[in-house]
Amino acid sequence: MMAENIYETALQQFDQAVQHLDINPGIVKYLRVPKRELCVNFPVEMDDDSVQVFTGYRVHHSTALGPTKGGIRYHPGTTLDEIRALAMWMTWKCAVVGIPYGGAKGGVICDPKTLSLRELENLTRRYATEISVLMSPQGDIPAPDVGTGEREMAWIMDTYSMHHGFSVPAVVTGKPLAIGGSQGRAEATGRGVVVTTIEALKRRNLAMEDTRIAVQGFGKVGAPAAYLAQEHGATVIAISDVDGGIYNARGLDIPDVRAHFATHRTLTGYPKGESIANAELLELDCDVLMPCAMENQITAENAPRIKARIIAEGANGPLTPDADALLLKKGVFIIPDILCNAGGVTVSYFEWVQDLQSFFWGEDEINERLRRIMVRSFNQVMLVAQEKKLDMRTAAQVLGIQRVAEAMQWRGIYP
Ligand code: NAD
Repeated sequence: MMAENIYETALQQFDQAVQHLDINPGIVKYLRVPKRELCVNFPVEMDDDSVQVFTGYRVHHSTALGPTKGGIRYHPGTTLDEIRALAMWMTWKCAVVGIPYGGAKGGVICDPKTLSLRELENLTRRYATEISVLMSPQGDIPAPDVGTGEREMAWIMDTYSMHHGFSVPAVVTGKPLAIGGSQGRAEATGRGVVVTTIEALKRRNLAMEDTRIAVQGFGKVGAPAAYLAQEHGATVIAISDVDGGIYNARGLDIPDVRAHFATHRTLTGYPKGESIANAELLELDCDVLMPCAMENQITAENAPRIKARIIAEGANGPLTPDADALLLKKGVFIIPDILCNAGGVTVSYFEWVQDLQSFFWGEDEINERLRRIMVRSFNQVMLVAQEKKLDMRTAAQVLGIQRVAEAMQWRGIYP
């Protein structure tokens, strides 16, 4: 079966959402396309002295609400359409949580696992230089995504700073604390996933303590989501990464799993759980499923076998539209990606504000501000869903699109 094109998914969702809004058709036409797209082919000197040419992208979807914001992905399967979809979702996501940013995304077609540290640094610094025509603290602020992390963000910050002759920490977020990163950023996306899950559980008269959770993905989103869910009393029965998963009906001890992962760089071989395949994890008998890995994981094929009552979309686009429809029909509560995983961009926004002011906040303050924004946004999406009789995903899209369209209406069409 052909993999679903997530840009088509994003457009389909947009077309569906605008039917519930009264927006100027010209604005609808403009919001349906990315504002600007940059494709760069650039050389990197490899360890064996050969030169390889890599392809990267940076797409800005909308600047109506402010500078563009969105992660940079290093993945062999990255395409321009994928980056377009992720940029569009960033626009709605920022609007849903009420943060003054537009949407962007970037990516480089590469497998970071096959590159040495030096090659990764060369690639990152050159890609940062190539996209620096679009990137700035006032214009476009990248962040980590799949395959990148604080190390890459540090190189991007340093590269941009070298070009300008002084340090510019606010040009990128998700940096190490030592160079202007924020407390709480590393767990922020997972924390937001857990906060919105708690809200969804309340709507089903359930509490975290009574909940069995399966988490797909053990990266920057999945690992903190699993850890924080357990901290809130949930039983995390399974987790997985690209190599497969582990399962224990009595619950996994996430700090212990993390220690195993830190040593072995894989979940495989973890002694206090049975190994399971990735596909099996999705279909486990559990209350909450948190897909925190890649897009298109739940399709029309496996959706009928999903047993979870709540799906918290830590990843972007983990459900295909067909799967979405099937699961809604089954009564599954889906916390949509543009709400569920917005904790990352929220604390990225805090990081940017702190960098611009050179004044840093404590972790408790950050976590509490994040929690308030996530709960408020969850309630606002719920309200739209109830008032307009929509599912949560369409309601979130409606809320986000409406806010961006209103900003565009006020700003008018230049000239
Ligand atoms: P990451 O690279 O840190 O981790 C990805 C994880 O997914 C890894 O554990 C990897 O092994 C696993 N994985 C990859 N393919 C898999 C597969 N087929 N089955 C099971 N596991 C698989 O990336 P991340 O930052 O955690 O991002 C994960 C998702 O969350 C992406 O969709 C990303 O766009 C989204 N997201 C990330 C952030 C953030 O702050 N990092 C914010 C919002 C949304």
